[in-house]
Amino acid sequence: MKLELNIANKETWLPNKTPLIISGPCSVESEEQVLQTALEISKLGKVSILRGGIWKPRTRPNSFEGVGAEGLKWLKQAGLEVGLPVATEVANAEHVEECLKNDIDILWIGARTTVNPFSVQEIADALKGVDIPVFVKNPITPDINLWVGALERINAAGINKLAALHRGFASFDKSSYRNAPMWEIPIELKLMCPELPLFCDPSHIAGDKDLIPYVSQKALDLDMEGLMLESHIKPVEAKSDAKQQLTPNELGSLLAQLIIREKNAGSEEFINKLEQLRTVIDELDEELINKFASRMEIIKKIGEYKHENNVTILQLERWEQILKNRSFLADKVGLSDDFIKKMLELVHQESIRVQTKVMNRQN
Ligand code: PEP
Ligand code: MN
Repeated sequence: MKLELNIANKETWLPNKTPLIISGPCSVESEEQVLQTALEISKLGKVSILRGGIWKPRTRPNSFEGVGAEGLKWLKQAGLEVGLPVATEVANAEHVEECLKNDIDILWIGARTTVNPFSVQEIADALKGVDIPVFVKNPITPDINLWVGALERINAAGINKLAALHRGFASFDKSSYRNAPMWEIPIELKLMCPELPLFCDPSHIAGDKDLIPYVSQKALDLDMEGLMLESHIKPVEAKSDAKQQLTPNELGSLLAQLIIREKNAGSEEFINKLEQLRTVIDELDEELINKFASRMEIIKKIGEYKHENNVTILQLERWEQILKNRSFLADKVGLSDDFIKKMLELVHQESIRVQTKVMNRQN
């Protein structure tokens, strides 16, 4: 499917940097905190847009819900001091009005808002006749149509300085990520509308500092326009998303280590076929790892149960039944018997090791 949007040429409104880096704290917490963060990250010379959340949509109540409109002045002032445009999240018409009053340069729509067409429409209505860039994050749920719908609504209000921002998706599976990247969804969006600038937010995908470099590099390898990375002058004291915020120094090291690959000269294609296929392999391997982890959790529960009921770890009958049934299933999908038996043997050995540990711990 082709997505028809009326998009302004990105050269006319986006800073001309590759990759384009948006950074700043998850939340604006005080005048001092946002200014100090801005001063430090701007020294790196690689950040083009200063971000900061003013109204924080929290999953659970009684968490820090942002400083509110008052913080817009601090954010704008910090941007002016370091010469950077500033961006913040809006979730309703009132937020839009407050941002416009305070000369905020760029708005973004958060994942919890993109899921709701009523809220997106309210924002679109508030933006009619306004010329301001808007970034639309993907919805929390892995539904590309909600993302597309939000982009269409904002575009129909006359906003043509428009970009998409990939921040990962909520997933029921146990995962190393806070939000599963499901790279095939942003890839599909890019294929539907190649002229729409596509950014990645590795901070909210990773949820943890350690994973951010991997996710950032992956986004660049998929030819994304740039990255939104949360940075806080003192992450341990951050009032939201403490685990995923980088110090300005850490941000500097990350940006220095990113590899920017040459685009395939002359190719109209977003990414080459090999990269697409490798991305799918990466996803599948991640799924396999997560499935093994879930399987091992159940193995531990069985270990505890066997222990309580005083039965042996190895139960031959059950093992024979597993081998027979899995061989049958493997054959149906064209996997060799030898391969599946070797793999099950490995899994079984590890399960026995884990159960032995569980039983001994309880003795
Ligand atoms: C944020 O950018 O701080 C934020 C709340 O993001 P998301 O909407 O992606 O959860
Ligand atoms: Mn955040």
